Amino acid sequence: MQKVYLDHGATTRLNDEVFEEMKPYLTEIYGNPSSIHSFGREARKAIDEAREKVAAAIGAEPKEIIFTSGATEADNIAIRGVARAQQKKGNHIITSAVEHHAVLDMCKAMKKEGFDVTILPVDEYGLVSVADVEAAITEQTILVTIMMANNEVGTVMPIAEIGQICENRGITFHTDAVQAIGNLPVNVNDLHVDLLSLSAHKFYGPKGIGVLYVRKGTKVNPYNFGGAQERKIRPGTENIPGVVGLGKAIELAVTDMEAKTARVKAMRDKLKDGILAIDATKLNGHPEQRLPGNLNVSVEYVEGESLILSLDLKGIAVSSGSACTSGSLDPSHVLMAMGLDHQTAHGSLRFTLGVDNTDQEMDYVLDVLPEIVTRLRSMSPVYACKK
Ligand SMILES: *Cc1c(COP(=O)(O)O)cnc(C)c1O
Repeated sequence: MQKVYLDHGATTRLNDEVFEEMKPYLTEIYGNPSSIHSFGREARKAIDEAREKVAAAIGAEPKEIIFTSGATEADNIAIRGVARAQQKKGNHIITSAVEHHAVLDMCKAMKKEGFDVTILPVDEYGLVSVADVEAAITEQTILVTIMMANNEVGTVMPIAEIGQICENRGITFHTDAVQAIGNLPVNVNDLHVDLLSLSAHKFYGPKGIGVLYVRKGTKVNPYNFGGAQERKIRPGTENIPGVVGLGKAIELAVTDMEAKTARVKAMRDKLKDGILAIDATKLNGHPEQRLPGNLNVSVEYVEGESLILSLDLKGIAVSSGSACTSGSLDPSHVLMAMGLDHQTAHGSLRFTLGVDNTDQEMDYVLDVLPEIVTRLRSMSPVYACKK
């Protein structure tokens, strides 16, 4: 049976070149980078080179790059680290209702510690308004954290404008750019960000390794204690194969980005047109201001889970707006924040395309999906009544 992977928003396949680059660091080159002998120096050199690649990819300086265990940790360090480091200055944090749980849950944890948290609403397309951010700022505001592109609906936020406002007001600004890198230009100076999170496994790198960019002079408290690694903000012996893999992966991600994303976008648009031709379907997220590989649609009168399982039986891997993290059947917080009703949110499907997908695969999905929808709807009393 044909296998089609359309869940790149969840994770991606490790690129072969990236794997080749990592291999020696899983075997022959095993020194501890903190050791001063040749074994250690060899490992240290690999980390330094990877740090330079990351810095070059996002317009930063190498010393502003901190390696973490992934974006969940990077988001957590950014929020808790800034909140605790700057609490003498103020106690107010601003975020949005559509953030990844790594941001939202950490903001909620900060609220329990006594911080005041404003969760901004979004419009029907999942966009945060720049004016809302500006209006929410108070004398107490120390941190604004808004994602660059949404992982569920693909909406791209006005990060440069929000960053400019924060810069003017002297407020630390963090963005989760996990879904953006490799899809959109990401330059920390153009975006006016002080902190930025990335995760290698979202751009064809290994799992369990990420980056927190910390602008020089930004006050961030350490996350863990126990060593001098990663500017003491995230100590512990480095994940060298991971770091090397991330360095190679980010270099590849930003190379020929326009050509790669144009191809992905063309496939996505073909899939979109085909799916929206099915009766009672609707696009979720912004019509234009969205990630090239993201397609989120609601198929009315059908459960997203039933669709996923039926597609899976045909070898097609997608995800839905509900049950994505917790295994619960709560509808997605993102779709709910965009004002979708429960039923429409429950019938949502997320297709996230990647560089390895082909036109033929889109044809296959469009061949299979309408039949599945018809079959599932034939069992739905609500759909029968509607007709
Ligand atoms: C995947 C993802 C994360 C979490 O990254 P991990 O490295 O898996 O912890 C955070 N934010 C966004 C937007 C994501 O898509």
